[in-house]
Amino acid sequence: MNRISARQCTICKPIEFSGFGVHSGQPVTLLIEPNDVDSGLHICRILDDGTKTDPVSVHYSRISSTTLCTTLDLDNSINAATVEHVVSALSGLGIDNALITIDGPECPILDGSAMPFVEGILQAGLKFQTEKRKFIKILRAVTVRNNDSFAALEPYNGRVLDLEIDFDNDVIGRQRMIFDWTPRLYVEKIARARTFGFVEEAKVLRQGGHALGSSLENSIAIDEDGIQNKEGLRFEDEFVRHKLLDAIGDLALGGLPIYGRFRSYKGGHKLNSQVLKSMFATEANYEIVSADKLPLSFDALDDLPEGLKVESFLRSVG
Ligand SMILES: [Zn+2]
Repeated sequence: MNRISARQCTICKPIEFSGFGVHSGQPVTLLIEPNDVDSGLHICRILDDGTKTDPVSVHYSRISSTTLCTTLDLDNSINAATVEHVVSALSGLGIDNALITIDGPECPILDGSAMPFVEGILQAGLKFQTEKRKFIKILRAVTVRNNDSFAALEPYNGRVLDLEIDFDNDVIGRQRMIFDWTPRLYVEKIARARTFGFVEEAKVLRQGGHALGSSLENSIAIDEDGIQNKEGLRFEDEFVRHKLLDAIGDLALGGLPIYGRFRSYKGGHKLNSQVLKSMFATEANYEIVSADKLPLSFDALDDLPEGLKVESFLRSVG
């Protein structure tokens, strides 16, 4: 592993995103700011009266709900919903330390993928820090099940997600993807995949006050005739790619990047959080390892896609 790849990473300067919450339908602004070494990812909220909550760690122990999206408890009955896409973007790019601030109850959905976050983060630029990056190395396999679905974390020499979905629906059907993580491959293969839903289910959700902000601008909508979006799919297997995007965001709630293999069949936010919880329940399941002790070679200087502000990336590490 080279000198740069072993170091922790934050962003060079603050970056702001404006959009709507997919469930609340309310406008929201999200700010990502650089943060200190060993601080990890944190989130806080600006409330209606202008006060700011104390930042809390983006951590599985903070999950208050995994229904429809991943919601974190910020104390005092204050929540931050739909954190998984922005956290996926940060984790997918290999950013260890950052502070997220939102001025509403929910992160903006933007185009339903992580790509707008990725582009903004890369425009801000990545900054490598002085301390070594740390990983959670999986030592013993842990599996959680729910009927025929499961999620597992297993010892593995690398960072791999092997994810399969199986929908009783002709448009989606059964799709599997094995993703060998690097920041470049995250941007190229995962970040652009949009969230998806069924038109009939969306009607029910709206009646219950959810999915009020969902539209063809931010979701793939499926009905009995197929896909409603005129532009079609961004990838033939966009659905499994989006599930991988979600899983990368959910697994980042372990607090440190995972060194090992994640496997999932028909999983989702709930199983993803449960497998983290099970893994951390027994200390013999894992150990915290410094990056320079692992045979990984990512984050090399050429490990970001062309055209995506590589010059700011280069400047930041120069
Ligand atoms: Zn999602």
